[in-house]
Amino acid sequence: ELYNQVQDLKGSIRVYCRVRPFLSGQTNVQSTVDYIGENGNLMIVHPHKPGKDARKVFNFNKVFATSCTQEQIYDDTQPLIRSVLDGYNVCIFAYGQTGSGKTYTMSGPDLNTEETWGVNYRALRDLFQITKKRADVIKYQVGVQMIEIYNEQVRDLLVCDGSNRRYPFKNIRNNSQLNGLNVPDASLIRVSSTQDVLDLMRIGHRNRAVGATALNERSSRSHSILTVHVYGKELISGSVLKGCLHLVDLAGSERVDKSEAVGERLKEAQHINRSLSALGDVIYALAQKSQHVPYRNSKLTQVLQDSLGGHAKTLMFVHINPDVNAIGETISTLKFAERVA
Ligand code: ADP
Ligand code: MG
Repeated sequence: ELYNQVQDLKGSIRVYCRVRPFLSGQTNVQSTVDYIGENGNLMIVHPHKPGKDARKVFNFNKVFATSCTQEQIYDDTQPLIRSVLDGYNVCIFAYGQTGSGKTYTMSGPDLNTEETWGVNYRALRDLFQITKKRADVIKYQVGVQMIEIYNEQVRDLLVCDGSNRRYPFKNIRNNSQLNGLNVPDASLIRVSSTQDVLDLMRIGHRNRAVGATALNERSSRSHSILTVHVYGKELISGSVLKGCLHLVDLAGSERVDKSEAVGERLKEAQHINRSLSALGDVIYALAQKSQHVPYRNSKLTQVLQDSLGGHAKTLMFVHINPDVNAIGETISTLKFAERVA
């Protein structure tokens, strides 16, 4: 049964849209989401356009309404995640403007509350449970890496030597041992329980905060990638399988007004715009089955190259803030998503 679901997803690019609820305090705010249909349709209403031009329908593999729980989100992600244990490479991206719910989907609002855990922790918990169940047949090893890409520089977030330094890496290269993530110099740490993972996340979050004036500011301008490497050996045949799962919390997709941003802020914005466009171009080329896939145009796509295309599977969560004031970004997010879907 699982096998069939996996077959169904093979080689495809899926796009899920999630609409975040209004936050407490946001009462009487007008919503731009007019209607969510059963078949992945989403109707947006533009506050300043007249008549029939005001409404536009977008179509995705699935649309999750504001009432949707973290558990429901995970249920629709699970087959993809489990396929990693069968040797697939999988990339899951969270895309959207800052404040639209990317980190909520991937990590959740609070590490300490299991009910609201995001995809990251649920995925690892699930993988550990299955590896235990299969232990008489396959011996699995699981390792994780956590990196950040900021201004086209790759940094290790799992440096645990207490120095709190983040090392910029120049080396991005193929490494057959680290199937799937081309950053062999970043710490790869063996994990065997969700507790191990939570401990690592805390280190990762702490390292991410170092040097940033405000954590939110910085985290919204860098891409963070949690990679789970799985290595399995069948006990009887001795055959080996490798798979990896990338869980990517992308930098905020908002366009920065060029007349306002200067200096560092402008440089950051340009790096983000370029790398998100590069990601869009790669996914678009893959969806079109194009001969040339432009992986080399950004660090993000270089780092994930082995896990985008081929037999790898890609899922993009696009996030919508329903506030009328966000309409411009909402439309551009939906257009980005529609292009890659
Ligand atoms: P982003 O990572 O895209 O900048 P966040 O995930 O930090 O956005 O979300 C912004 C705020 O909205 C946070 O306070 C978060 O807890 C809240 N939020 C986002 N999505 C949801 C959701 N589905 N349900 C409840 N609160 C949410
Ligand atoms: Mg975030």
